[in-house]
Amino acid sequence: MTDLTRLTAAEIAGLVAAGETSAVEVTQAHLDRIAAVDERVHAFLHVDTEGALAAARSVDERRAAGEDLGPLAGVPVAVKDVLTTKGVPTTVGSKILEGWRPPYDSTIVERLREAGTVMLGKTNMDEFAMGSSTEYSAYGPTRNPWDLDRIPGGSGGGSAAALAAYEAPLSIGSDTGGSIRQPGAVTGTVGAKPTYGGTSRYGLVAFSSSLDTPGPCARNVLDAALLHQAIGGHDPRDSTSIPAPVPDVVSAAKLGASGDLTGVKLGVVTEFTGEGAEPGVMAAFRESVEALAKLGAEIVEVSCPHFQYALPAYYLIAPSECSSNLARFDGVRFGLRVGDDGNRSLEEVMSLTREAGFGPEVKRRIMVGTYALSSGYYDAYYGQAQKVRTLITRDFTAAFERVDALISPTTPFVAFPIGSRTADPYQMYLADLFTIPTNLYGGPAISVPCGLSEGLPVGFQIMAPTMADDRMYRVAAALESTVGTFTPPAL
Ligand code: GLN
Repeated sequence: MTDLTRLTAAEIAGLVAAGETSAVEVTQAHLDRIAAVDERVHAFLHVDTEGALAAARSVDERRAAGEDLGPLAGVPVAVKDVLTTKGVPTTVGSKILEGWRPPYDSTIVERLREAGTVMLGKTNMDEFAMGSSTEYSAYGPTRNPWDLDRIPGGSGGGSAAALAAYEAPLSIGSDTGGSIRQPGAVTGTVGAKPTYGGTSRYGLVAFSSSLDTPGPCARNVLDAALLHQAIGGHDPRDSTSIPAPVPDVVSAAKLGASGDLTGVKLGVVTEFTGEGAEPGVMAAFRESVEALAKLGAEIVEVSCPHFQYALPAYYLIAPSECSSNLARFDGVRFGLRVGDDGNRSLEEVMSLTREAGFGPEVKRRIMVGTYALSSGYYDAYYGQAQKVRTLITRDFTAAFERVDALISPTTPFVAFPIGSRTADPYQMYLADLFTIPTNLYGGPAISVPCGLSEGLPVGFQIMAPTMADDRMYRVAAALESTVGTFTPPAL
């Protein structure tokens, strides 16, 4: 019998539509797989067994009634714990929201339901999506299915590990500085950050509102595109949502799979080709560039001189926005409350709650952000970082006058051992060296596996102009058609 957990999302949907398997069978197979391996991987913070089976039953009933259910009906999906799910715990990886059951669904989760997908549960993440390894989760780290002593990336390590461990064929992440693409890269899976505003932030617990972007994760490019299409598009409940349809990413992925890139011009970012990156990562990247050239793509070098300032600018802008966004966690409105014994003032309860509820990285960011926004320092730090953001956007705009998309490795290094980078925050921040410029600009970017270095997956990044998400899928699918997909050693 076919192992349903090894199929692609498109294959599962096909079997369900043809009546060759049921959504309930598919869901049960994934729940069994989670029960068998998640104790070792810890991709999930919460498994919604009953909710998943009920959703699956409803898909089967609707199919039996002859309803046309769309291209992902009956496919299980795991959702990063940063998105609100009605009645289902949503912690953002933090103690401060432990036990909170939101009264509403995020738009992404609502659209997943409308598409007939089956939500298996909520995945582990760095607290408030701040981190690159999932080690900053208040609920313990997630492990990389390729090597359980290594990190699965972050902040969406749970969503990526669930795919690589065959616990789910699809998952949802959020990308503020790389949290979809970097976990994708180090787990040998596909992760796409849509154009900012192309996917709704309604119900996404805010970290840095001008950067946060929910998006799809999958084990192959077409599945990612199908998921992207299902969750994307205008949402009147998000004031920064773009009032336009989702670019046709599914057709683009299919076109790319034919392996023909004639007429496509790709720019290798000069500034991202050496310093700070592992030789094995660069070797896999260069081989993939050659493979793309063989498919007909024209490859040129493009200098983006301000990309080198992206990391420092991001680490002022993101903490500044977070210091403001996280003010709402005060022990009054949601989740944890500490010290409310009738004798303490409101301020004391707030401060005890925040002291107990936030972990060290979140506190560090709040302090940096508050400092950068304070009146005497605003111009020198936050104001300056915003100017750098403009210069980075200009680099992208100029580059896209010359090329269709920019390419680089996704991360400078492969999955590192758990515990090896937590002592020095800067070492952790470096994981997003190549992903952050895109967030500051607002365009889309995708990470697709391109090879192995020392037996561990390497990610290839394709960055496209805003609202040209389809372009990156075409190139990603073409690359996948020559390098294939990557299967971790069996767990
Ligand atoms: N690793 C980056 C950070 O710590 C990006 C996180 C993200 O994209 N959510 O801020």
